Amino acid sequence: MDLVEELLLRGLEDVLGCPSAMVVLHEPDLSAREKELVVDCIDSNFVSSVGHYVDRFEEMLAAYTGVRRAIAVSNGTVALQVALHLAGVESGDEVLVPSLSFVATANAVSHCGAVPHFVDSCPVTLGLSPEALGDYLDHIAEPALGQLRNRVTGRRIAAVVPMHTYGHPVEMLGLMEIAGKKTIPIVEDAAESLGSWYRDWHTGTLGRIGALSFNGNKIITTGGGGAILTDDPGLADRAKHVTTTAKLPHRWAYFHDEVAWNFRLPNLNAALGCAQMERLPELLQRKRRLAERYRGAFAGNTAFEFVTEPPHARSNYWLNTVRLRTPNMDVRDRLLTKANAAGYQCRPTWVLLHRLPMYAECPRAPLPVASALEASLINLPSSAYLAGDSQL
Ligand SMILES: *Cc1c(COP(=O)(O)O)cnc(C)c1O
Repeated sequence: MDLVEELLLRGLEDVLGCPSAMVVLHEPDLSAREKELVVDCIDSNFVSSVGHYVDRFEEMLAAYTGVRRAIAVSNGTVALQVALHLAGVESGDEVLVPSLSFVATANAVSHCGAVPHFVDSCPVTLGLSPEALGDYLDHIAEPALGQLRNRVTGRRIAAVVPMHTYGHPVEMLGLMEIAGKKTIPIVEDAAESLGSWYRDWHTGTLGRIGALSFNGNKIITTGGGGAILTDDPGLADRAKHVTTTAKLPHRWAYFHDEVAWNFRLPNLNAALGCAQMERLPELLQRKRRLAERYRGAFAGNTAFEFVTEPPHARSNYWLNTVRLRTPNMDVRDRLLTKANAAGYQCRPTWVLLHRLPMYAECPRAPLPVASALEASLINLPSSAYLAGDSQL
């Protein structure tokens, strides 16, 4: 075994011990309370599209994040798709997204009939770089009738989508300044960052509209689910309307006033979500403690650096990450093989989106930072229970 492999395994062993079974990357954390509320939901017979748990879950999300309205939907991808639609993204537009993201960020753009336009990331936050974005837009974009146009493709640039990678907040002030100057709305992909704060604001609440995910691998889960966050009551009403078949309220008549979606979150899933929201502070506390232990274990490590929350931000530490000090794809893959064989489920970051076959022809900025991050990031097992119970 070479030195780099040994340095990774030693760090993992320090925090997780020697596993007898596979320590998975991330698993749901469910308690008696989740069971209680789900059983209550079943007993009520309201398991589907109508019921009190949806309203309660939405209220809990709005109260926690400090946003005026939260609208629960069936998953994070459609939350982002509807958010883009409501921000005005139309067929034939371009939307700026980080190349370093989960595929759903670009898919949501495509489902609007728009084209993802890939931009670079910041080495500190792992999210969109305001500086790189500003410089790039100065080059390729021009104002046109109060909008922003791509000089090269002629298409309108209709929105920018910062994504808070692994829970670490993007440098939002810089980004908001550029978006304001260039007159493009910000739609936040906060799928991974429930419980993460940028200065005094919860992630997903700084842009015009934001999206959360409650998939099974996220910090809390509803089995599958998502939410749209916005301070704009008009947008919130629209979000509810178009995700619930655009039915006009009436005691018995079926009247729908536009082509819409059935993207609502079932009451059964919302019941699970209510119990998870009650436990979110406890889960966050454990996540922080686990991150603290990893940070200690990798302190002074000559091959790896533990990724910490950016300045002015409080991360939920959804997924813990180390980076190779010297980016190298072959070394990275060797490390992943070794760690997985030793019982630690470590994963690389995503294949950069512009290299996936369906997005290979999309416009893109130079991506030196994203490429270096792809060759250096390694996610470590991050389930909340791994922090142990000692100090709770
Ligand atoms: C999980 C995730 C999504 C999509 O959420 P789903 O609920 O799985 O559809 C979108 N963007 C990012 C960055 C994610 O991690």
